Amino acid sequence: MPQSSDTPVPLASPDVTETEIQAVVAVLQSDRLSLGPRTVSFEQACARRAGRRHGIAVNSGTSGLHLCVRALELAEGDEVITPSFSFVATTNCLLFERVRPVFVDIDPDSYNMDPAAVAAAVTSRTRAILPVEVFGNTAHFDQYEQLARAHGLAMIEDSCEALGGALGGRSAGGFGQCGVFAFYPNKQITTGEGGMIVTDDDVLADRCRSMRNQGRDSAAWLSHARLGYNYRMSEINAAIGEIQMARLDEILAKRRDVAQRYHRCLGDIAEIHLPPMADPAHASWFVYVIRLNDRFSAADRDRVMEHLAHEGVGCNKYFVPIHHQPYVKPWVGDGVHLPHTERVAARTIALPFFNHLTDAQMRRVKVCLQDALRRVTPRVFTG
Ligand SMILES: *Cc1c(COP(=O)(O)O)cnc(C)c1O
Repeated sequence: MPQSSDTPVPLASPDVTETEIQAVVAVLQSDRLSLGPRTVSFEQACARRAGRRHGIAVNSGTSGLHLCVRALELAEGDEVITPSFSFVATTNCLLFERVRPVFVDIDPDSYNMDPAAVAAAVTSRTRAILPVEVFGNTAHFDQYEQLARAHGLAMIEDSCEALGGALGGRSAGGFGQCGVFAFYPNKQITTGEGGMIVTDDDVLADRCRSMRNQGRDSAAWLSHARLGYNYRMSEINAAIGEIQMARLDEILAKRRDVAQRYHRCLGDIAEIHLPPMADPAHASWFVYVIRLNDRFSAADRDRVMEHLAHEGVGCNKYFVPIHHQPYVKPWVGDGVHLPHTERVAARTIALPFFNHLTDAQMRRVKVCLQDALRRVTPRVFTG
């Protein structure tokens, strides 16, 4: 059916087929709704993809990060180096355990933490590095790993935006002690809600497996070896994930195609920077985030977004820096100095991005964006 020119274009849209629906029906017709074969199979698929020996399915990416923090025994008084330019879950998993986040600035060419800034932030209290593949970009992950080794630090890879991505032949989720994926509906693959820890470390894997299931030890159902949580993933969610994982390469190829079409479509707009991506041939695109150039203010960006929203074009600020959130301030004080994070975060706009985005929808996004830019273009006075 042809789309009229004012049909809204959503920011994200999950790609779920009849195969996922049939897999869910099959689970519901079985007598195993939690901790069954679908979960095991989904765990194995994610571990294999990350080049890891263990996969531990949980009910969200945030839960996965929290269990990694607990399993590594990070605690009050410890410092963890992490970006403020990320989704809040990256920091929340530390605050749950009263671990102090130490925010370092980004490299403005990749939007990931600047490795030099990471090195400069190490103190005697630093216990770990918690880097994020921002928007799916794997840049610098080999360097973070080297830094962690050199300083005797743990590394948790927040790969919640990078499932299936790679850097120099190594997979996202394969750097550091452990990696975490997430399956909320706007991610590359979805289970509705869900997350996955991947690791080669047997002890860490056992602890996470136990803590997601009320601290049970593996032997007896009512024997609780430690304080745990109910962070289990249901068989229903795992069945969706299993099919989505089998489709991952097809999904990533579609997303690379949409990103390339966006590059071509928007490449002639002088006012914007296109999104950076390391290793484009193996890229795992999470979102497509453009950035207005430095002549625009944060208020200009907000007005561009208002116009897009008014025209029915989905958009969002990726990200509001984590240190701007009121509940985070007491942990870091007012002295945070992250000039690149501030400059970039004030000017980014996530555009509609999903597997089946059509050329017509993309053209509509471009027309609305150009309209919006004309309305707010800063006056340049010469002579
Ligand atoms: C999505 C995401 C998470 C986890 O989100 P959940 O909603 O808990 O699954 C964590 N970190 C980052 C950077 C994310 O984008």
